[in-house]
Amino acid sequence: MSKYSLKDRIVFITGASAGIGAACARAFAAEGARLLLAARRVDRLESMEVDLLEAGAAAVHVFALDVRDRAAVERALAGLRAEWREIDVLVNNAGLSRGLDKLWQGQPQDWEEMIDTNVKGLLWVSRPVVAGMVERGRGHVVNLGSTAQELAYPGGNVYCGTKAAVKLINDGLRQDLMGTPIRVSDVGAGMVETEFSEVRFRGDKERAAKVYQNITPLTPEDVADAIVWAVTRPPHVNVAHILMTTIDQANSLVFNRKS
Ligand code: NAP
Repeated sequence: MSKYSLKDRIVFITGASAGIGAACARAFAAEGARLLLAARRVDRLESMEVDLLEAGAAAVHVFALDVRDRAAVERALAGLRAEWREIDVLVNNAGLSRGLDKLWQGQPQDWEEMIDTNVKGLLWVSRPVVAGMVERGRGHVVNLGSTAQELAYPGGNVYCGTKAAVKLINDGLRQDLMGTPIRVSDVGAGMVETEFSEVRFRGDKERAAKVYQNITPLTPEDVADAIVWAVTRPPHVNVAHILMTTIDQANSLVFNRKS
């Protein structure tokens, strides 16, 4: 069977303003897709538009969205112009970690931000988008997993918990969609060098840089490549789960630091 073509397909990526989401936008552009991109920093999305069109995107539409705001998500999706409503691929990428503290020393507002973004935000976006996919009888949902969903690490407590939740939501959704042609994939990565650690440590660049010291991390392009691969398999193939790490990482806890 031939690969699933993304030419002119509508690909909706949340959190497309940085890191893996931005790399996905470039990778799907190269496949000739129509890109629907959302994040809070809409100025960043706007600054990507020309490059994405040059890279092969059939069209680009960007909009500001905070996935934590359920009403705003519903409004934004319901308000899409007709030519952008029939989403073929949803990449639930928006996500973040905050802090690396022992549970009893952690900040409840950090927990709320992670749960509201990584779990509830993913649900607020998925509900209307998947409902449309079911109606049209086509679609693919890709959720961003992590090595953190397989095995927790010290101080990772709530972040790892949110990613474990994503894993089971993903499994449940795949079962709910049995009998439809809609595919569901969980693409999980280990350490990827993005703004992730800077966000986790609230702008402390020095601390963030140490995370990737003496190690060759994955690049956001590596993850985007795996996501595009999963989505372009022939329609009868559902890649349920990908877990990828740099060669210097075995799991959440074991690294090969060259120093
Ligand atoms: P990143 O460079 O910090 O990018 C995160 C993206 O999420 C940004 O575009 C950000 O955009 C968006 N975002 C955050 N909160 C949002 C909200 N409330 N509403 C809308 N968008 C929001 O981090 P990344 O590494 O690319 O992370 C992307 C995904 O991969 C996350 O789900 C993360 O958990 C997962 N992941 C990362 C790694 C890693 O090592 N980096 C490993 C495994 C999995 P705005 O700030 O503009 O809204």
